[in-house]
Amino acid sequence: IRIDVGLGKRAYPILIEAGLLDRAADLLGAFARDGRLVVVTDERVAATQLPRLAAGLDGIAIEPIVLPAGESTKSWAELEALTDRLLELGVERSDHIVALGGGVIGDLVGFAAAIVKRGCKFVQVPTTLLAQVDSSVGGKTAINSKAGKNLIGAFHQPSLVLIDPTTLDTLPPREIRAGYAEVVKYGLIDDPDFFDWCEANGAALLAGDSDARLHAIAHSVAAKARTVAADERETTGRRALLNLGHTFGHALEADTGFSDRLLHGEAVAAGMALAFRFSVRQGLCDADDAARVTRHLEEVGLPTTLGAAGVSASGEKLVTYMEHDKKMEGGRLPFLLARGIGRTFLDRTVELAEVAAFLDEEWLVE
Ligand code: NAD
Ligand code: ZN
Repeated sequence: IRIDVGLGKRAYPILIEAGLLDRAADLLGAFARDGRLVVVTDERVAATQLPRLAAGLDGIAIEPIVLPAGESTKSWAELEALTDRLLELGVERSDHIVALGGGVIGDLVGFAAAIVKRGCKFVQVPTTLLAQVDSSVGGKTAINSKAGKNLIGAFHQPSLVLIDPTTLDTLPPREIRAGYAEVVKYGLIDDPDFFDWCEANGAALLAGDSDARLHAIAHSVAAKARTVAADERETTGRRALLNLGHTFGHALEADTGFSDRLLHGEAVAAGMALAFRFSVRQGLCDADDAARVTRHLEEVGLPTTLGAAGVSASGEKLVTYMEHDKKMEGGRLPFLLARGIGRTFLDRTVELAEVAAFLDEEWLVE
């Protein structure tokens, strides 16, 4: 399957197929210089998928750069070490750096590629479900800073995205489930038929069904590619819809210290359930729709409540985390709310005090 991101001069293809890694020589051979390719990955992916890529490259040598696994790798320190190493290797602007890994590697390598020699090229080879359906497409690259997540970064589109769903075979089930939350997200935003599909096929996908995985990835990537082509830099509001569940989710992640206690996708699942229930409270959405969202996420084992997300903070505290979110606009925070499944919109009129009151009510119900 081939999906193109229609961005004019910056257009690029996304290839999705089981076994792509095993024939990487055909796909990446043209990017090798002097028979070598720089591949950046993390230690877990180096142990599981790098040998496959190396075999698939069939004689093309890999210059591997292996970084620690985990969110803390998206740091100034790792960025400095990575860019130093790339310069030491003599990377040129026309070279393609290969990012093999999850969203952490993709975001860091993309940012490094954006700034080394004022911009060189890179290829995304995502190996987590989250990265395959979301972060590898669209050109948002970033590291974290003391002030928060993803606050330092650049828009820098890859030249190619290679998605091999079989790389998920070595990914822990909890990581797959977390990535699945971002799949469900596309249905909830504007595609009720796809949410129906998720209800019918989500369990099979999580159990490893390869057809379900391929369909979910292709459908999600197509939705992401369309959105990015329509609003590359999140200026018209269209791309902002992809943040459904992320404002609530961000507060939950902040309260759990952005740690393994609550994975990003888990926070997004709870955040989407909260956004739907808040929409019901505001008189915007049918309670049945919110109940359906909560039920499906719960059925597949994702958290949908503050307690299940491992959070213990009051509504007021959670709202202060949201205020530090980078999407604040003149003292107000735009919220993605829903009029129903597949009917989300950006509401710029929400009072944070209302959000705090809602979250405290959530505690009472729990
Ligand atoms: P991750 O990159 O940390 O990967 C999760 C874990 O799985 C890591 O321990 C990794 O080593 C391991 N792993 C990866 N692939 C594996 C495989 N095939 N087999 C075994 N282990 C494997 O996390 P993630 O969930 O992929 O990405 C989260 C990051 O993505 C966050 O930093 C988030 O901010 C970012 N993100 C970016 C965008 C964007 O548009 N740029 C969108 C969403 C999320
Ligand atoms: Zn996300």
